[in-house]
Amino acid sequence: MSTNLEAYWMPFTANRQFKANPRLLAAAKDMHYTSHDNRQILDGTAGLWCVNAGHCRPKIVEAIQKQVAHLDYAPPFQMGHPLAFELAERLIKMIPGNHFDRVFYGNSGSEAVESALKIAIAYHRVRGEASRVRLIGRERGYHGVGFGGISVGGIATNRKFFGSLLPGVDHLPHTHNLEHNAFSHGQPEWGAHLADELERIVTLHDASTIAAVIVEPVAGSTGVLVPPVGYLEKLRAICDKYGILLIFDEVITGFGRLGTSFATEYFGILPDMITVAKGITNGTVPMGAVFTRKGIYDAFMESTPENAIELFHGYTYSGHPLACAAALATLDVYEEEGLFQHAQELAGYWENAIHSLKDLPHVIDIRNLGLVAGIELASRPGKPGARGMECLESCYETGLLIRTTGDIIALSPPLIIQKEHIDQIVEILAGVLQKLI
Ligand code: PMP
Repeated sequence: MSTNLEAYWMPFTANRQFKANPRLLAAAKDMHYTSHDNRQILDGTAGLWCVNAGHCRPKIVEAIQKQVAHLDYAPPFQMGHPLAFELAERLIKMIPGNHFDRVFYGNSGSEAVESALKIAIAYHRVRGEASRVRLIGRERGYHGVGFGGISVGGIATNRKFFGSLLPGVDHLPHTHNLEHNAFSHGQPEWGAHLADELERIVTLHDASTIAAVIVEPVAGSTGVLVPPVGYLEKLRAICDKYGILLIFDEVITGFGRLGTSFATEYFGILPDMITVAKGITNGTVPMGAVFTRKGIYDAFMESTPENAIELFHGYTYSGHPLACAAALATLDVYEEEGLFQHAQELAGYWENAIHSLKDLPHVIDIRNLGLVAGIELASRPGKPGARGMECLESCYETGLLIRTTGDIIALSPPLIIQKEHIDQIVEILAGVLQKLI
């Protein structure tokens, strides 16, 4: 290979390992990537949970091309451009119930999370509750890689190298339990009581010190952990009881992954803020956003009537014109093609297909919801993650892109997927798992 694989410090990837077996992608179209050695690779992960409408969709490509030639950039502080406003209005209308009224833009899921955490703390402060600064996340939660995100996040490897992190953070227990929940179809029955831990944390610190709870409605990056029946309802009720803001990190669950616009609709629970990214632009142009429910923005504006407090936070690329154009075109595609509905209709087929892998070697759990699934493999003694990595490599060689975290396979195909693609995913995985030692 002529490409020099040295200078680029790859994220979450050991260059040395990558170099030994480089997987370079050269092109993409709809459900497939083309590898550098010109093989078709079925995309079982929508890129990285983001290309929900499939790759290189002409409408989105054209919108970006048109925008960059027309208005390439506009400063977002004290200035604006129409698309940013148009997009915000369209986004909040996607959530039923007329509950949200503002959208704050960033460039990634991580930035959306940092923004939401800061808004939460500032919100309490402008309302005269400056003592509410504590944040509560969850074990095995992934909220990006900012200091706020890794602090509320619950993944040891992402935290342990980076010092003391944010003070005043607690973690709820995660809800994964092989003894009670293995091979659940959809939401597991067991585990709602784990939300009661929030009561314990509130009792320990007093509600007057707690700003917000942040959770992924379905935890994605740590291997697709589906919330037990009643769990999110309990979190919502406890947050309401104590005036704590509830933030849903929908960076993965947003934009149709569960067959509804957002998980909030799927579960019928309204959080106070929602963070999104990824599928907002179909992965084409970096963008993240926070949706805030009615009353949050107003608290800033009303805090001192004659001198409303602005939010001292934002990015050079907040509401970037290319991202806005890409997002608007993406929403058109989702809508025109009924992709969320399509995902909903295929969810049952997906569930049965994925669970058909139950009896294959090493499989100790399978979990699913909407068009997402996790397949957990037993770790090889003394070598956690090795089996997962070998599975990823074999799938790629056989023509399927999967994602693994440790020994858990995560699948989240583009929502344009058809039954024959699902069959193909299952067939390739079955073949690979049969041979895996
Ligand atoms: N939150 C969640 C739930 C995510 O899944 C991710 C990314 N996988 C992030 C935040 C961070 O997003 P980004 O990588 O765009 O910063």
